Amino acid sequence: MILKGGRKVDFDWLLDMAAGVSWAELQSIILNPKNFISLAISTEELEVIWESHLKDQTPLQYLISKCPWRDIELEVSADALIPRQETEFLIDFALKKVTNIDFGRWADLGTGSGPIAISLAKSLPDWNGHASDISKEALEIAKRNLKSIVPNANVIFSLGDWWGPLKRWRGSFDLVLSNPPYIPSNLIEELDPVVKNHEPLIALDGGADGMNASRKIILGALDGLAKGGWLILEHHYDQSERIISFMKNIGMKDVSFEKDLSGIKRYAICRRN
Ligand code: GLN
Repeated sequence: MILKGGRKVDFDWLLDMAAGVSWAELQSIILNPKNFISLAISTEELEVIWESHLKDQTPLQYLISKCPWRDIELEVSADALIPRQETEFLIDFALKKVTNIDFGRWADLGTGSGPIAISLAKSLPDWNGHASDISKEALEIAKRNLKSIVPNANVIFSLGDWWGPLKRWRGSFDLVLSNPPYIPSNLIEELDPVVKNHEPLIALDGGADGMNASRKIILGALDGLAKGGWLILEHHYDQSERIISFMKNIGMKDVSFEKDLSGIKRYAICRRN
């Protein structure tokens, strides 16, 4: 099959995720063209998916309704952002902060399809978990993902804006994570069509300076977190200084940042006093 202008790396991804052909298998038939590999779906089906991706740039993840993330595979749809690789790190930082807590309470604010919540549920099986989202449709996907990946997990899903639906548990959270929308509104137009024409704007657009949701989440953490509880946020590539100052100015302690794989300050961390 020919790529017809698409990217080989995307086609290889599709072969792997939809047809079950790993990159290593692919190399082996390139080296030994007589070798035989079997596809989990027909070449016609592959072609249909690839053509519709090329036609209007629909992300392959939406076309095949799945996306790998850390060690799990999530159902995804256009009702929620496609989980990003850089967000995988949030889990590593979080787990390091709470090694001494056996039974705590975590929350994932704006869970989308649920990657953060599901990873926390897997890694902290004795904790109580909460996932909120303002989109009913996203919450349904997250619930299905949790059910299929960590069926016995103790997670409460709540519909609403950031801390809004979690008032009942105010002051009891030991760990809160979020990957909020953080792209400044005027930059949305410049995003790749694969993102801006297909992913939910509500999960990307962070208002004039991109930090509307982040500020709400940080302010809410003042009384939402338990004393000493941790907040870990992902943010845009140039927001580190502003987010860190905001955390310090409102009285959070142990404020720090972490970098992503490209060396960009991408995560802000603080603790309730
Ligand atoms: N990192 C995402 C992107 O660049 C944005 C995610 C977000 O706003 N939280 O498309």
